Amino acid sequence: MKKFEDVIEFHGHSCPGLAIGYRVSIFALKELGERASDEELVAIVENNSCAVDAVQVVTGCTFGKGNLIFKDYGKQVYTFIKRPSGDGIRISVDWKSPEETDEEKRMWDRYMKGDHSEEVLRTVHDRKAKKINLILNAKDEELLKVTKGKMDLPEEAKIYPSLSCAICGEKVMEPRARVKDGKIVCIPCFEGEN
Ligand SMILES: [Zn+2]
Ligand SMILES: [Zn+2]
Repeated sequence: MKKFEDVIEFHGHSCPGLAIGYRVSIFALKELGERASDEELVAIVENNSCAVDAVQVVTGCTFGKGNLIFKDYGKQVYTFIKRPSGDGIRISVDWKSPEETDEEKRMWDRYMKGDHSEEVLRTVHDRKAKKINLILNAKDEELLKVTKGKMDLPEEAKIYPSLSCAICGEKVMEPRARVKDGKIVCIPCFEGEN
């Protein structure tokens, strides 16, 4: 099982969003079983925040393999479905950040106004570290609202033939090709960006 450190290494920094994605992913694997080496597990993420990097590292559902599907809903909801059974789990993150102290509010305000003095940075950093810790140590039921059951599987990633763009000469996957003045072209050439 991947550790939080592994996720930080991939993502580049530690942050509350990453911690949430880590908890979601660990929980999903605990419920559904092993990490996806190929496409036996599919993740559908409803945001493109830091959390999604944790999902990729921990569950093995990645953008490149096509078993990470992004729906731009701006919601902290993550669905994991096993192939071919369709057994799935939908996880909605329901975490309330603890109330900020007046001191924290004041410092955050100064930070947002561009004050990066040592005392401001220390408070902002401590607050972030506190949040990360709370998320990593919260009970599952304090953090995650879970639904389980059979779910509809998205289509499997397909491999398409590629065509050559008549304008730039670069290869383009067939379903993305467009026709412009009777010639096969890529989308940037079609839109006149090349
Ligand atoms: Zn982050
Ligand atoms: Zn082109």
